[in-house]
Amino acid sequence: KLATYAAMRDLPAVTQCDQPVRLLLNAGLLADVPQLEATGAHGIGLYRTEMPFMARPQLPDVWAQTSLYSKILDAAQGKPVVFRTLDVGSDKLLPYWDSAGEDNPAMGWRSIRITLDRPAVLRHQLRALVRAGAERDLYIMFPMVAEAAELIKARALLDMELERHRAEGGKPPAQLRVGTMLEVPSLAWQLPALLKHVDFISIGSNDLTQFLFAADRGNMRISERYDVLSPPMLSYLRSITDRCLDAGVQLSLCGEMAGRPLDAMVLLGLGIRNLSMSAPSIGPVKAMVRSLSLSRLEDYMSTLYDLPDHSVRDKLRNFALDHGV
Ligand code: PEP
Ligand code: MG
Repeated sequence: KLATYAAMRDLPAVTQCDQPVRLLLNAGLLADVPQLEATGAHGIGLYRTEMPFMARPQLPDVWAQTSLYSKILDAAQGKPVVFRTLDVGSDKLLPYWDSAGEDNPAMGWRSIRITLDRPAVLRHQLRALVRAGAERDLYIMFPMVAEAAELIKARALLDMELERHRAEGGKPPAQLRVGTMLEVPSLAWQLPALLKHVDFISIGSNDLTQFLFAADRGNMRISERYDVLSPPMLSYLRSITDRCLDAGVQLSLCGEMAGRPLDAMVLLGLGIRNLSMSAPSIGPVKAMVRSLSLSRLEDYMSTLYDLPDHSVRDKLRNFALDHGV
């Protein structure tokens, strides 16, 4: 099967009914970027920038960050790269910041909460991204945004850095796209206010699932207890998807769900056309996409949202088997 997936590298990710789908990579190291070539992925849908912050004894300075982000963009050879700003805290602790000792670190001082409280850290990172992105397409995404006001504050810091860069005689990005993760459930209830301020949204199903079901994603006793292919999650995703697509905001999903073929099939049935996943998932998900006919799936899925039990995954698996997906 691996040989078959490799052979599919250059085949388009298009459904049986001619719907193109973008398959993107999740990455976190410069060494991941060549996987773009190896897998034939469209781009990097999620570049987690925290690795160099975690690996060093102190914060990397603007120069070190600029140099790294430039190398990443060079290595991507013109394919889009979505840089997600620092998402530390919870399970990703920095040796030089004491955020340990919280009772609920996943719901604690983490991610954009830290970087809005320490704006110099975020500004340095944004400065480096703006410098590296001069005359190139630059995609910046903010993590763990819980309300529109946080995104607006972060964007204001980005605007300051764009202005500073301009005043220093730097070239602007060829194209700038700013987006947010949707991984805290509250944000879905502020979409009208949020959508005006973003070019794209990426659903982080890992954190979203843990917060939607109140089930710690790292606690093995319960992390498998609730299924993403279940009526509450599917209804929730359907509501987000419908509103983003109506507003013309580009929507993707970059949690683990996107890399599992059956789950990814359901995301396509919901209307999501951009899926970001780890490199080994690209082949299996592309095989699924190429065998899928969407209209039958959409019709079938409409019968699932109100089921009161745990039968949804089995039903969808049978649908996939029956339809040669
Ligand atoms: C997510 O929460 O789904 C996500 C993609 O972000 P991370 O796994 O880095 O928290
Ligand atoms: Mg997350």
